[in-house]
Amino acid sequence: MIKKRVLVTGGAGFLGSHLCDVLLAAGHDVLCVDNYFTGRKSNIAHQLGNPNFEAMRHDITFPLYVEVDEIYNLACPASPVHYQFDPVQTTKTSVTGAINTLGLAKRVKAKILQASTSEVYGDPTVHPQDESYWGHVNPIGPRACYDEGKRAAETLFFDYYRQHKTRIKVVRIFNTYGPRMHPQDGRVVSNFIMQALRGEDITLFGNGSQTRAFCFVSDLVDGFVRMMETGDDVVGPINIGNPHEITVRHLAEIIIRKVGSKSRIVEKPLPVDDPMQRCPDITRATKTLGWTPRVSLEDGLDTTITYFANLLGSNQTEPAARRSAT
Ligand code: NAD
Ligand code: UDP
Ligand code: UDP
Repeated sequence: MIKKRVLVTGGAGFLGSHLCDVLLAAGHDVLCVDNYFTGRKSNIAHQLGNPNFEAMRHDITFPLYVEVDEIYNLACPASPVHYQFDPVQTTKTSVTGAINTLGLAKRVKAKILQASTSEVYGDPTVHPQDESYWGHVNPIGPRACYDEGKRAAETLFFDYYRQHKTRIKVVRIFNTYGPRMHPQDGRVVSNFIMQALRGEDITLFGNGSQTRAFCFVSDLVDGFVRMMETGDDVVGPINIGNPHEITVRHLAEIIIRKVGSKSRIVEKPLPVDDPMQRCPDITRATKTLGWTPRVSLEDGLDTTITYFANLLGSNQTEPAARRSAT
């Protein structure tokens, strides 16, 4: 194993903190950069004594001068509730953040992986979505700050690749869940589990016939690392997600059953531009990375429910500093 110096932006977030754990376990030197907008120090607290780990408070919309071999660019709020809280900052984080991390990668000749998203496909008219689909995105709606920001970031990645020969990797992540999601994150899995555990109403947006496909975090991080290990000719984009598609109503029913909850399902208005269906075609990931997800929804939900139940038991569910405004 060659020990590498790896930068993870957004490293105190849900996915970033798991990625830091995996990189450290592999023996690498990890620099976690985060402004703690949606990330939490508690996600990385267990690594603070590790001599191979360093945490830096920094907003990636500002330049960053460090010396590293690889960069995973994950900094960006991922939940609709949080990315719509300060939409201008969301676009800045994706676009200016991409310019700064790409400028850094260019200067130090690092490999750089972009955490893009299935949201680049918008409310898709092609199903399941493969990487050749250009998407169906409303450029002026409330989700646009995230969707278009991530699309512009992809453009920047491919222009740095063509113009400067920067060693890029772009992965498009589909809905991912697991321990360390913030309990007030607003995403469907964390919302439904917290509501079920507390016996509160389950807030089903619309009639619940919209679909999603949920990937467990360990599978996702495995896909990240495999992508980073590919040769410079593999630039993506590559979908990473679990193609097991279910309706949001069915997800609510599974969680109620698993928790053994008395919660009722209550329909709430469907958010504007909420995609009606989403499911990854992972043929490219399977062929190029030898990757397929291994954790079933049933097993992944069990692990996640246990995590949130422990969190409730230890009363560590206080909101992050800026969350009170949402
Ligand atoms: P998260 O909100 O838990 O993590 C994002 C992290 O980025 C947080 O720690 C946050 O504090 C940090 N951050 C935000 N703005 C920043 C800035 N300007 N400077 C520095 N740090 C900043 O979300 P996540 O689920 O871990 O998502 C990580 C990445 O994966 C994001 O880029 C997201 O768009 C992408 N993604 C996630 C999913 C998913 O289902 N989890 C799906 C598609 C894409
Ligand atoms: N940058 C950075 N760290 C570096 C190198 C560059 O943050 O190590 C930022 C810097 O703000 C710069 C941007 O990345 O403006 C883009 O860099 P690039 O070299 O591509 O273009 P420049 O703007 O310097 O012409
Ligand atoms: N959703 C829901 N109730 C909630 C939160 C979300 O029914 O409390 C729905 C949401 O409308 C969407 C799906 O669950 O159709 C996934 O939402 P999430 O915010 O997790 O991610 P998205 O895929 O929309 O980015």
